Amino acid sequence: MALLQIAEPGQSSNPHEHRIGIGIDLGTTNSLVATVRSGVPKILQDQHDHTLLPSIVHYGKDENGQAQVTVGHDAKASIATDPANTIVSVKRFMGRSKADIRFQHPYELVGSDQDMPTFVTAHGNQSPVEISAQILTALKNRADLHLEHEINGAVITVPAYFDEAQRQATRDAAKLAGLNVLRLLNEPTAAAIAYGLDQNSQIVEDQNFAIYDLGGGTFDMSILRFSKGVFEVLATGGHTAMGGDDIDRLLVKFLKTKFEIAELSNQQHAQLVQITKSAKETLTTEMQVDIQFDIEAQTFQTTLTQAELATVIQPVADRTLQVCQRVLRDAKLKVADVNAIILVGGSTRSMAIQDAVAKFFEQTPLCSINPDEVVALGAAITANQLVGNSKDGTLLLDVTPLSLGLETMGGLVERVIPRNSPIPVARKQEFTTYQDGQTAMLIHVVQGERDMVEHCRSLGKFELRGIPAMTAGAARIEVTFQVDADGLLNVSALETTSNVKANITIKPSYGLSSSDTERLLLEGFQHAEQDKQLRHLNELKVEAQRELEALKQALIQDQSLLEPSQQQSLHEAVAILEKTLQTDDASAIEQAVESLKVHSDAFAAMRMNQHIDHALKGTRLDDWSNSTNTSSSNQSKE
Ligand code: ADP
Ligand code: MG
Repeated sequence: MALLQIAEPGQSSNPHEHRIGIGIDLGTTNSLVATVRSGVPKILQDQHDHTLLPSIVHYGKDENGQAQVTVGHDAKASIATDPANTIVSVKRFMGRSKADIRFQHPYELVGSDQDMPTFVTAHGNQSPVEISAQILTALKNRADLHLEHEINGAVITVPAYFDEAQRQATRDAAKLAGLNVLRLLNEPTAAAIAYGLDQNSQIVEDQNFAIYDLGGGTFDMSILRFSKGVFEVLATGGHTAMGGDDIDRLLVKFLKTKFEIAELSNQQHAQLVQITKSAKETLTTEMQVDIQFDIEAQTFQTTLTQAELATVIQPVADRTLQVCQRVLRDAKLKVADVNAIILVGGSTRSMAIQDAVAKFFEQTPLCSINPDEVVALGAAITANQLVGNSKDGTLLLDVTPLSLGLETMGGLVERVIPRNSPIPVARKQEFTTYQDGQTAMLIHVVQGERDMVEHCRSLGKFELRGIPAMTAGAARIEVTFQVDADGLLNVSALETTSNVKANITIKPSYGLSSSDTERLLLEGFQHAEQDKQLRHLNELKVEAQRELEALKQALIQDQSLLEPSQQQSLHEAVAILEKTLQTDDASAIEQAVESLKVHSDAFAAMRMNQHIDHALKGTRLDDWSNSTNTSSSNQSKE
């Protein structure tokens, strides 16, 4: 998604009017909150000077046996002691249906396949939205400790590939935590804003930025293009199961081999993971680290070097670079086209990762801002602008990640809002009825880049009823697509002669995975030519069907005008067209339409003459058109 800047002159605020906006990075592993103070974005710490809040929620009991929710560092220990009631990585469940959740987890989930499931906990069933709301509440409380008055609004970051359902779930969680969401912002865009890559006014040419985000359990690679004040996502890719946790796993395996340990209890294993993790983190600043691991009476000791760590990390680094290669290819860019690379995520603190990225992109990546803080800082800058504190008064807008449109006859997609349109956006398009006397219309809203509905994602359907019966094509139905600042879509339909209305707000109950979004985009590009042909074929069929329909109506009324031989050849031409319409042979259909035309044109001319004769004999022309209307079918077409 991208950003657009809108200059708002004279927006600088008086000090006493200072409003408070906070930026929140709601991460899979860790979450943070930041704000801008005296023009500088700052991470807000807790009472123990922690910047990161582990994204962990424990539903347990206090010392009096009362239900108690603990979040963050306080909940960490419960992962080992009470795993079923300790929810980690809840972000993976946000806006996803039970059927979408195919990864392993230790939780008992309930719910139907189509809906977001709930977790069975000691405090009853908890939805991913409620669990995320606990994390957001903890961050809000942390911010309240530091800030002089009430928070006016928050910007929350989400992965670039998050679809509407996942974004909606995030918004719902914020609402539950009592936060006023100013905007959801893409994580890579937030990182680019933190580095001020949108502020360099000397740059006139388009710039391409690569954002390499290796966190605890996920890897995300995005390529943004900054052009005319707008950040546009050119391509995204990643792995939903690759990050610091995998490095820890590999490192534990390495140490077990070194110590010649074959078996470990769960508890001992968890202990070794903790030791390993902190050793890994020490190695970002030290060349080597001493490790000591005790099991029962036995003590294992060794020294781990940066070089050893680099060897262990290599396979993870290699896999991320394969993704980088693919994402570059999707963006149709070469390494030399990338103007800057930003490192995001705690795992990019490892020298081995930094070296691998630098070698691949043939330049030194930007990492002067803490990689696990950079996203929250960018969100804080945006929040500060949105509450109206920023001196330059720039506003940042997102864009739609995939095209939005609706289904028309023949299963075709009519795109109403193209992909990468800056939001908020509203577009109006006129549609009409297909059949005579049609009184209802089904509006089917879809998302995707392909021409056929079946290749896109269905977002929702609604009916417009009570359209006055008219001839096909006479009704004027205005369909308005509106995407608000948070990416929520509202579609409304209005029949302008009668003023009947219907609308829908799209809050799909399940989401697309990042790979699904990528696939939809990629397929759109790959199938462009094939889609064009398919669209042509379908349009041809719809048009032919319409003509057949009209011809049949005319035959019911005026067949008697034709000689028996003329009737026969017309019926034969109709039969041939009907037969070719069963096939997908566009040129055969075109031919059949042509040969039918030869006969039907003559018939049309005869009918015209007859009606003129009638008119000359005193029958009013509108009688004729009225009779045509009432004789056509009056059913609703859905
Ligand atoms: P997420 O975005 O998934 O919430 P983070 O960006 O906070 O996660 O990254 C967390 C990961 O970063 C953990 O796996 C942690 O071990 C790793 N990490 C943190 N500090 C370091 C460091 N100094 N060296 C290597 N890895 C680190
Ligand atoms: Mg992150």
